Amino acid sequence: MFLSIALFIMVYRRISPLIYIYQTHDVVITDAIAALVISLFIFFGVIGLKKVVLDLERRNINLKNISKIDSLTGAYSHDEAYHRGREDISRSRRDKTTIGFIMIDLDYFKHVNDHFGHLAGDFILKKLSTICKKEIRNVDTFARFGGEEFLVILPGVSNSRLKEIAERLRIKIEKTNFIYFKKLIHVKISAGTSFFDPTKDKTSNTNFTFRKYVKRADDAMYRAKDKGRNRVIQWVTNI
Ligand code: GH3
Ligand code: MG
Ligand code: MG
Repeated sequence: MFLSIALFIMVYRRISPLIYIYQTHDVVITDAIAALVISLFIFFGVIGLKKVVLDLERRNINLKNISKIDSLTGAYSHDEAYHRGREDISRSRRDKTTIGFIMIDLDYFKHVNDHFGHLAGDFILKKLSTICKKEIRNVDTFARFGGEEFLVILPGVSNSRLKEIAERLRIKIEKTNFIYFKKLIHVKISAGTSFFDPTKDKTSNTNFTFRKYVKRADDAMYRAKDKGRNRVIQWVTNI
């Protein structure tokens, strides 16, 4: 805006000698040409500057998105999971709504890498993320929390619905035929859930609360591993 006004004034000051010549016929041709050339340089210079600024802005947006999204799977990054999770907790306290958390870990994923290769493993992680993202809403968060561990955050769900969703994801993955270079691969997941109800848990520290419920979902997931894998376990006291 300010740049445009300044540009307009500058160009006008360069063109005014031309108008003067036109009105008075008092031609100082070198002055007139110099004024015109300087105007053109300023004009194209400012346009170039604007292009550079726009380009920098675009690159900045791209950089921000890169840190938000995990490059392999397209899921939200670990940091973004924290960011969104804390925001969900704050909102949930204000609106008195609940939040469900699901921690997912692939079962015997090392075997997949050993048998089919690391790239096949990467392919599985990518496809699994696409499948899971399709199963949840836009307000939910599906994040790659660790190597082959994923965190799902579901604002506003009931505890029974949370269990249903986790179970649905588990069955969906179990039934999927992952085909990598004509090789059929089957994978299974173990999942743990935890449930935040702001009317029952009044801890005020958002960061602490988020970590607490992630830890609970993680503990429940490890319980699912202990019990034989390929199952969903809900967190309960003294799990
Ligand atoms: P468990 O059922 O106990 O979870 O067995 P697991 O073999 O899955 O054991 P664990 O969770 O400890 O191993 C995780 C494996 O996931 C080890 C690592 O090689 C693999 N992994 C982690 N990140 C990636 C990745 O980005 N790509 C691939 N291909 N593999 C990964
Ligand atoms: Mg695993
Ligand atoms: Mg793991």
